[in-house]
Amino acid sequence: MAEELLQKHFTPYVQEAGEEYMNSDQLAHFRGILEAVKLQLMEDIERTVHTMQDEATVFADPNDRASQETDIAIELRNRDRERKLIKKIEDTIERIASGDYGYCAACGVEIGIKRLEARPTATLCIDCKTLEEVREKQIAK
Ligand SMILES: [Zn+2]
Repeated sequence: MAEELLQKHFTPYVQEAGEEYMNSDQLAHFRGILEAVKLQLMEDIERTVHTMQDEATVFADPNDRASQETDIAIELRNRDRERKLIKKIEDTIERIASGDYGYCAACGVEIGIKRLEARPTATLCIDCKTLEEVREKQIAK
């Protein structure tokens, strides 16, 4: 759910011919997306906290209680995911500031506007990412 937020359709960046990769306009564009998503996530978390406080009724019926506990567990898991995503976004904003944004953290090639547009927090190029996923699958076996 949280990840989908990042893929929400923001107006894509329109590149001009011969434009330099990761120029200040491009950086400002991605920074804007990241900050908007971060804000949205923080508002979601805030809302979840309030909802949970409002719903913190103790039900007499054990079935109600059980389903309430499940709801809370799901909420907490979502919140945890959202927090992690916020952290990732903050790291990404730091990469923009330090000039590392848009370049693969593993091999240094340009990640590419298209890929960043679909996944603004990407730190790996598509090749390194694919390799990483293959390795993760092997470890999981
Ligand atoms: Zn790479």
